[in-house]
Amino acid sequence: MAFIDLTSLGKSFGPTAVVRDFDLALEKGEFVSLLGPSGCGKTTVLRMVAGFETPDRGDIRIEGQSVLRQRANQRQIGMVFQSYALFPNLTVAENVAFGLRVAKVASAEITPRVNEMLDMVGLAAMKERYPYQLSGGQQQRVALARAVAPRPRVLLLDEPLSALDAKIRVALRTEIRAIQRQLGITTLFVTHDQEEALSMSDRIVVMNGGRAEQIGTPEEIYNRPATRFVAGFIGTLNVVEGQVGREARAFLNCAGGRLALPDTFDASAGEKIAVAVRPQSLRPCSVEMGGLHGIVRHVEFLGAFTRLHVSCGQTTLLVDCFARDLAATVRVGGPISLTVATDEVLRLSA
Ligand code: ATP
Repeated sequence: MAFIDLTSLGKSFGPTAVVRDFDLALEKGEFVSLLGPSGCGKTTVLRMVAGFETPDRGDIRIEGQSVLRQRANQRQIGMVFQSYALFPNLTVAENVAFGLRVAKVASAEITPRVNEMLDMVGLAAMKERYPYQLSGGQQQRVALARAVAPRPRVLLLDEPLSALDAKIRVALRTEIRAIQRQLGITTLFVTHDQEEALSMSDRIVVMNGGRAEQIGTPEEIYNRPATRFVAGFIGTLNVVEGQVGREARAFLNCAGGRLALPDTFDASAGEKIAVAVRPQSLRPCSVEMGGLHGIVRHVEFLGAFTRLHVSCGQTTLLVDCFARDLAATVRVGGPISLTVATDEVLRLSA
């Protein structure tokens, strides 16, 4: 039995179905991200688990029990929002204590628990400050301490890092994950940031139009995107369409030439398919070695690597290379040949 079970969840606002046939099971202690573009229904799923929205269809079970008849404050759930939502008139310590009082924790236990939580988020020295005396990152740590202080069964995080600047965001995501592991608390995290989801999660649910498009570990989602949508949303993937041909081995006839296909592909000659190729899997090479031939349209220096925009017929491919791999002959408007390792060609199902 899973710790949290969401089955066939559905929710409409007026005529618009924003969550459809949504199934997800979380194991105890798991950190699962809901990832997808704005408006795909992530927050609505989270709000249904929290008890702020009622599903039209389906069930939400925690430890085997349906929580649909429980109010939000009966579900033993901690939540952190994008806006820190701290009480401005209460100190850091009072903010954390507030949740404990609401949860009717015995008063003798409150101060030690507040201290323990503030130690955990590294803010023990700031417990007498007010929220306006804290940075955004510190306020979000207080919000996290407040959410987990009552020892909830489940932690829900709704884009908690979005309002912070890039450096703090990276530092705080590592801290949140460390605290989540330390407490072993089952966590559902909403984000539209691929890097955040890939770096933090045990599993990721990629959502599209209210549905779970793919559920898998970060490695599975990144290395084996099931659909064109997932491929496009996770990182910058090239989608190449073409018709399967077969000689000694299978290949894809596509704009710019042909791509050798992995032996594992179950594709028959003549079939029209789409494959995905990562920008770093395409390598510039000599004309004789190359399966694909195109014209360099644009060269972008991105610090750690250089990204070439190469047109092959109507398709533009992105090619990421290190400076040392870039031949001197690569110039805007000039021809280029590309090769790709067969096992780096990914099959897309839709
Ligand atoms: P974002 O990342 O922008 O928050 P999201 O994936 O979390 O997006 P939701 O907030 O779940 O998306 O919203 C999904 C859709 O439902 C959106 O089109 C939104 O406008 C709509 N919606 C959400 N809440 C309500 C509501 N209470 N009434 C009407 N429509 C709503």
